[in-house]
Amino acid sequence: MKSYEYEVTQIGEATYRLDEYAKTHSYLLVGSEKALLIDTGCGCGHLGKTVESITDKEIIVVNSHGHLDHVGSNYQFEYVWIASQDEALMWDSTSIVFRNERIRSYLLSLDSEFEENELERTIRTPQVKKVYHLTDGQVFDLGDRKIEAIATPGHTQGCYCFLDREREMLFTADTVCDISILLFLENSGSVETYYRSIERLYNRRNEYKVLYPGHHTPALSVDYMHDYLMCARGIMKGSLESVRHIEAIGDGWKSMYGLIGIVYKKEWISDADRASSDEKISMATGQDT
Ligand SMILES: [Zn+2]
Repeated sequence: MKSYEYEVTQIGEATYRLDEYAKTHSYLLVGSEKALLIDTGCGCGHLGKTVESITDKEIIVVNSHGHLDHVGSNYQFEYVWIASQDEALMWDSTSIVFRNERIRSYLLSLDSEFEENELERTIRTPQVKKVYHLTDGQVFDLGDRKIEAIATPGHTQGCYCFLDREREMLFTADTVCDISILLFLENSGSVETYYRSIERLYNRRNEYKVLYPGHHTPALSVDYMHDYLMCARGIMKGSLESVRHIEAIGDGWKSMYGLIGIVYKKEWISDADRASSDEKISMATGQDT
């Protein structure tokens, strides 16, 4: 019988990576008074119990963004912090109608033999009761440890990274991962928006030594920040080649720099292009955006 429970790895002093069966990395940062949990996965396994097995401190939960693979176990906690820009996306991602379709197909795409009981349990979960809004530069005080929330829109409009300056750790979720970053999704910002976020993080590169992403390779060097900066800049300048990129969740174009790539829409490169493309959609559908 398969285990759908989390795998826990200590990655530093009082700092843990929690690997979900469905391939999202959450992180638990324990301080002398409180602990910060970054992201809650798809909802597989029992994240609340996993966290309790590590610490009995009060848990502050933050969502790096509102996608379904980062907010699934929100309901196991009293409240969550998320950017106001991604709150509606989070409610969508944790609604039964959405989960019945999207979580089902996502989990089956990861494992075609995903067990029926665990699949149904993961789909049919309640929603978190209380939500607070993150603000750029906000500091979570865990007692002997302070974590800064940094707004990094791009992958979604409400993406955040979290910086532990003292331990020189930057938790980047889907803003900086190995392989590629997706900017072609319905809730993504323009390449220009993403570029500005990466530029802010890059300008602070002396404040962290290792990046801890939400997926794939679990710890990355600061070089990745440089490659994403150069890749986004190259796309804006039109100096990088691009190849068609199609997957089940959407399609776009992919440009590579070094070891990484950015997948984007050619009509969403500048902020102005992104805004006018929203306008065109609203004119076509007769809706206000
Ligand atoms: Zn995401």
